[in-house]
Amino acid sequence: MTKPLNKIFSLLFFLLCGTGSNFALAAEHADKILFNGFIYTMESDQPNVQAIALRDGKIMALGTSDDMRKLGGNTTEFIDLKGRMVMPGLNDGHSHPTEGALANLYSCKFEFTATTEDIAETLKSCVEKNPDALWIVGGRWDSSFFENNDIPSPRKWLDQYSGDKAVYFSDDSGHNGWANTKALELTGVTKDSKDPQGGKIMRDAKTGIPNGLLLEEAQTVLEKQLPDWTEAQYQAGVREMVRLANGFGLTGIKEAIARDPILKAYHDVDQAGGVTMHIAASISTPYGHREAPLDYERIEKLRDQYASKHVHTNFVKITNDGVPTVSRTAGMLTPYLPHKDFPDNFRGLIHVAEDILTQDIIELERRGFTVKIHTAGDRSVHEALNAIEKAHKATGRSDLRHELAHAELIAPDDLPRFKALNVVADLSPYIWHPSPIVQSIIDALGDRAKHIFPIRDFIESGAPVLAGSDWPSAVPSLNPWIGIEAMITRRDPYGKTPGVLWPEQAITLEQALKIFTIDGARALRLEAETGSLKVGKSADLIILNQNLFTIEPTDIAETIVEMTFFEGKVVHKAQAAQ
Ligand SMILES: [Zn+2]
Repeated sequence: MTKPLNKIFSLLFFLLCGTGSNFALAAEHADKILFNGFIYTMESDQPNVQAIALRDGKIMALGTSDDMRKLGGNTTEFIDLKGRMVMPGLNDGHSHPTEGALANLYSCKFEFTATTEDIAETLKSCVEKNPDALWIVGGRWDSSFFENNDIPSPRKWLDQYSGDKAVYFSDDSGHNGWANTKALELTGVTKDSKDPQGGKIMRDAKTGIPNGLLLEEAQTVLEKQLPDWTEAQYQAGVREMVRLANGFGLTGIKEAIARDPILKAYHDVDQAGGVTMHIAASISTPYGHREAPLDYERIEKLRDQYASKHVHTNFVKITNDGVPTVSRTAGMLTPYLPHKDFPDNFRGLIHVAEDILTQDIIELERRGFTVKIHTAGDRSVHEALNAIEKAHKATGRSDLRHELAHAELIAPDDLPRFKALNVVADLSPYIWHPSPIVQSIIDALGDRAKHIFPIRDFIESGAPVLAGSDWPSAVPSLNPWIGIEAMITRRDPYGKTPGVLWPEQAITLEQALKIFTIDGARALRLEAETGSLKVGKSADLIILNQNLFTIEPTDIAETIVEMTFFEGKVVHKAQAAQ
């Protein structure tokens, strides 16, 4: 019975709509009209307008305040922007937001800037508050913490404040860990433990006893044995993440390592109506040194099982190296500065050999996945580009826009290959300013570390570019306005570390906003639906408290998002705007 009726309605609708008018049916009033504003659309044919009309979750029309008002009816909500700026919702192209939210809610947390006294106090209070816990897990200490503080045994230092607990803290990069004696005992890390492939157990120079610091794969071995969050905690983490994201004006995010329980939580919370944004979930693969190809069947199964309306699962994450800080775990083309704890001419670690990586990308391309590859060092970038080039030849497709994450240092010959291979430079502007983490990179690499994150060179070469917070790795907040400011100033938006990092690579506000809106949407494979303000696209937009084009660039980080709309609904309203 329903089919013929549907047909009649479709025919009626066609007859009524097919009048050639740009406006929708006169009887169809807008749900909401935002007028009297500066609306920045990200569309070149109509870069800014005064007003926008929304209906059924979509953008119905854009134009002058007078024209848009005509689309209103009895039930229309009118919002006077009073000159304020509106723009598309932002997309964060690389973060670990649910891990960040879980850490906020449930872990023993201290700031990257924490001193030895701060960490001791935090740990003592976590031990006190959790009398029944076996483990105290948290972080995050800054990458140069042990360079800057003379702590002969990090393990014994923790023992002083641990009581009877096993303690484990991650560093700011998320690649290295710090454990106390009980944590090492419980996870079987002893004097006789060999360094795992792709990792290093740091030891006391005289006795060979592990000193509590675990780099890369050595950390993974321990982390696998940590107690996991419960399903209810994961779901609470997703809800908290969405609340934070919408509050900062994010309506899209690319989860850079969606572990199985996180994927499930995204799916379940979305089914329950709790995901008021788009999430592109990069399905996680085993971390660390790997000699076998990936389990492609498993990845496909997860994709099919957990995709839902706002959760997009055509994405995979592969980690190919570590970080170029003093831990020296990123794969470099030329050696790190010499250091007593590392072999001569040490060039870091590559997790997956080029031939295995090639095989993975071929198989994932055949199955339609976009792959995000963590490549911090220039050797890791180089080998990943080689693998992608070979894969494109084998599959005949180059449309999937794989991403090289961080891409901090690039060999000059590799720069044009991004455009040629349609590979996206997935950059981390939130950290490209003088800071402890950048100092740690300079300490490991010397002066060449003063030339990291060449975004302007990328853009001028025609390479596709993306940006992400990487939160909770390396940055204290998911706040995208921090990253946008740093792209333009290359100075510390928090004002903590003076100076400027490679100012010649600064970009313009227009370029930065494009990266955070339509380019971000493209990385989510949703550019036809969101990322710009255009008739027919999803009504994903934000109202700001200030016009970014009339303020000093150094004030961008203080931007407050007064309202966030997702699919036409208000999903965030700032206190003052209520
Ligand atoms: Zn990351």
